[in-house]
Amino acid sequence: MSELNIFVAGEWRVGGGEEMLSTFPADGSINARLHAASLDDVEQAISAADQAWRAASWRGLLPHQRALILARAADLISQQQEELAQLQTQDNGKPLAETRGLVASAAATARYFAAACEVLEGEWPSNRQPALLTLSQYQPLGVVAAITPWNSPIASEMQKIAPALAAGNAVIVKPAEATPLLALRLAQIFEQAGLPRGLLSVLPGRGSVIGEAIARHPLVRKLSFTGSTNTGRRLAHIAADKLIPTSLELGGKSASIVLADADLELAARGIVYGIFSSAGQACIAGSRLFVHRSLYQPLRQRISELSRQLRLGDPRQPGIHIGPLINHAHRERVQSYVQLALAEGGHLLFGGEPPAAPALSQGSYFQPTLLEGLSNQARVCQEEIFGPVLVMLPFDDEAELLTQVNDSLYGLAAGIWSQNLGHAMQLAEQLDVGTVWINTYKVFSIATPFGGFKQSGLGREKGRDSIKAYMQQKSLYLALNPHPNLWSD
Ligand code: ADP
Repeated sequence: MSELNIFVAGEWRVGGGEEMLSTFPADGSINARLHAASLDDVEQAISAADQAWRAASWRGLLPHQRALILARAADLISQQQEELAQLQTQDNGKPLAETRGLVASAAATARYFAAACEVLEGEWPSNRQPALLTLSQYQPLGVVAAITPWNSPIASEMQKIAPALAAGNAVIVKPAEATPLLALRLAQIFEQAGLPRGLLSVLPGRGSVIGEAIARHPLVRKLSFTGSTNTGRRLAHIAADKLIPTSLELGGKSASIVLADADLELAARGIVYGIFSSAGQACIAGSRLFVHRSLYQPLRQRISELSRQLRLGDPRQPGIHIGPLINHAHRERVQSYVQLALAEGGHLLFGGEPPAAPALSQGSYFQPTLLEGLSNQARVCQEEIFGPVLVMLPFDDEAELLTQVNDSLYGLAAGIWSQNLGHAMQLAEQLDVGTVWINTYKVFSIATPFGGFKQSGLGREKGRDSIKAYMQQKSLYLALNPHPNLWSD
């Protein structure tokens, strides 16, 4: 078992804080020991970052030179794809098929923002006065904090690091307590790719201590956060006090909607994937299923059959669909939601507890679970469970459907299953959510903006304009034929 250093201000060192462990959720074995960052490490990392982004060695780089560093990092990630995927599976228990996808996504994100950096252009507004040229340029913000959750490390970290560096900033990464390994590997990769010292620090530690100290630091000029809505709200307060921008990627309670004309098999497969992949530990998990009453029984039947075929088990083994939840405490939380649903009058169709297989007894596994008989007002339909728990609700007409789908504090995503695309597009338009999938679910493109409505977030990640979320505009007025200013009277 390895002892890991953390990466502070361009230096690998033992963190000054408490001991932390990375454990394999499938059996509780220890992957690595490390020491968290201390408040002193935070201070050093941020002051080095503030010097590093201002230094000519970074500020003086032309866009294609910055892009080259990101492109090299992408190549290094691609070369180590399998090893990184395995490491991530050890760190958070997601099946290898999924972690391979996350690693590939991180490389693609770095390449995409390398390109966005090269093609980013300022503006040359049209002349409103003779002999006056106005220009507007995009400049970096300075030191950016990237605070990330445990469910998709490397991908969520790169979604923040790549646009922030491409835009010319320095970045302080605070990975989730449970999953420090991939963020530290990313630091090594960027170091190898030639990123100047001090531009990237990775500071593992407790969110309430280290995350909060980073967010409050006066030199940190942007908070880019993915995680729970409560923490996001807390960070938004900190940002409001400092008057700095945020990008907040928060929770969800997304709906899958099956209209009467849906392709039943396509819908059943998409719904099962949408909620049970990643064991439901995804902000976009399709956790509420609204089904037209005419399809309710056959769809319930098909979802049950498909779910029985899912293989739970060691996420390192091929063919496994569902690994363990991140830890036992989280599993207890998921299970308590099932108990709550039953207390609220729900019926359990399958799952609802850990698997019985002795081989899985050490891991924090939880079976795919289907509930029905609840209203959209039930707490399990309103609160994010972040586990493999699906609630099925029938509907009769679309006005009622719309009211219920939109009756949520969240507004992250939705899926619509229908063979009438025009109609599905019209329905999509009326949903208060940031992403709608039609006849598919949980597929992503780095070129397409992602983010939430309502309490699911603020700002958008992905898409070529998202580099501008890490920049500020500076406008210049240039007199082409200077003469003394006149009073307006
Ligand atoms: P989750 O429930 O997914 O752990 P959190 O929002 O608690 O969601 O955590 C997401 C990230 O935010 C983690 O890196 C965590 O350490 C960090 N975090 C938690 N609380 C705070 C806080 N008060 N200030 C800054 N970061 C925090």
